[in-house]
Amino acid sequence: TIKSNIKTINPTTGKEEKVYPVMTAQEIDQILTKADSTFNSWGKTTVQERSAIIKSVAQAFRARKEELGALITKEMGKLLKEGIGEVLLCADIFDFYADNAAELLADEKIATPHGEAFISKEPIGTILSVQPWNFPFYQITRSAAPNLMAGNTMVLKHASNIPQCAEIMEVIFKECGLPDGVYTNLFVPGASIEAIIADPRVKGVAFTGSEVAGSSVAEAAGKYIKKTTLELGGSDAFVVLDDADINKAIRGAVEGRLWNAGQVCVSPKRLIVDKKLAKAFIEGVVEQVKNAKVGDPMLDETQLAPLSSERAREDVLKQVNKAVEQGATLVYGGHKLDRDGWFMEPTILTGITKDMDAYSQEIFGPVFMIYEVENEAEAIALANDTPFGLGGSVFTENKERGVQVARQIVTGMVYINHVTGISPELPFGGTKMSGYGREQAKYGIHEFVNEKLIRVT
Ligand code: NAP
Repeated sequence: TIKSNIKTINPTTGKEEKVYPVMTAQEIDQILTKADSTFNSWGKTTVQERSAIIKSVAQAFRARKEELGALITKEMGKLLKEGIGEVLLCADIFDFYADNAAELLADEKIATPHGEAFISKEPIGTILSVQPWNFPFYQITRSAAPNLMAGNTMVLKHASNIPQCAEIMEVIFKECGLPDGVYTNLFVPGASIEAIIADPRVKGVAFTGSEVAGSSVAEAAGKYIKKTTLELGGSDAFVVLDDADINKAIRGAVEGRLWNAGQVCVSPKRLIVDKKLAKAFIEGVVEQVKNAKVGDPMLDETQLAPLSSERAREDVLKQVNKAVEQGATLVYGGHKLDRDGWFMEPTILTGITKDMDAYSQEIFGPVFMIYEVENEAEAIALANDTPFGLGGSVFTENKERGVQVARQIVTGMVYINHVTGISPELPFGGTKMSGYGREQAKYGIHEFVNEKLIRVT
């Protein structure tokens, strides 16, 4: 038997299904050599050549959506229907960059009184991508699609609990004609990343995950002068103003918070509701959550899946218990389910105050922290009183007012009358402790290119 933390443990059953060996230093060296030498040819291919391959990856994703969706469910527990949605989203992201890269990478003229000048957008080499488990294929896609289209090569260290998703991604790329060495998985623990970041063949680091790991990645990258993007945690505010459509807000909150069992960086973790609507909002959320079907993620009627691991569930329950110990009110839930797998009840907390740990922490599970506020100004102040700055929502029937409030929320994304979402043409990323840099849209393809000035006189 192999001893390794890189393995599939099915969150629905708690059973270990497949273990992968950790790569040796020699294997890692070979992968980096190949990625680096392949850059010399891949970086010189035309956008059209790259686009043809990436288009067929999009098609493969659509054709294999059931199989890939089920693999996500097996490795990290997501509802099958959400997994299929994730696979289709990946197809759209691959298509977006395949269709738009030529325009996004085109030379950009600069007006100057001195001759002619333009920016040439050139690939920089091998990018190390380090990704989390909560969206196994989407996390690879939003990092790989723009970078491969830009002409970079990529080595990707995926989270240790989803090795089969990582493995099949590499297989699909190959089947679609991607040359060896353009995309390669690294099966290594997080702890051995520094040596890879330090390696001169690695030119940039795209990281998504927790602040602790992100900080250590950025520290190492800083030491070796390598550019990073950091997509870190969030504790998004979901602001319900006094003129909101309450039913829309309740529906949005419940769907948003139960999505992926609450394990979404932009999940509406703090629900901030005007006192005029607070009672009805809490009652509405309790009602819907009580009726939410928790169970087998493969079934279409299930609304709440298991958490991704035993550790993930322990961490969430600990945070809930601590909040209650510190004086918060447990309105609903708060316990694990008495069955195999890492299931827990959807949970609602109110009465959270600034002195409690939960006030400033991210809770990565199906936990609603509901706050009641006096007015709009208090809602904005509370929304901003967090170390995080990822996404956020404002619910109001007055769109102009929504935009005015959105401008005052210090995050990378704010959605009016909708939970923070994901779409290939819209940028994704945060500020404050949620990190820096953007993925998706035109911004995502410009992070790891050399925007080189060429001036002609
Ligand atoms: P994590 O522990 O930071 O893991 C993320 C990745 O980093 C994994 O591949 C992990 O590998 C690796 N890693 C762990 N420790 C490391 C270290 N010291 N140095 C380098 N790499 C290291 O994150 P998580 O807790 O599993 O993921 C959830 C977090 O990600 C949440 O905070 C969530 O909000 C955030 N997230 C953010 C976004 C965004 O776009 N902003 C999107 C999704 C998730 P191992 O699995 O081997 O430990």
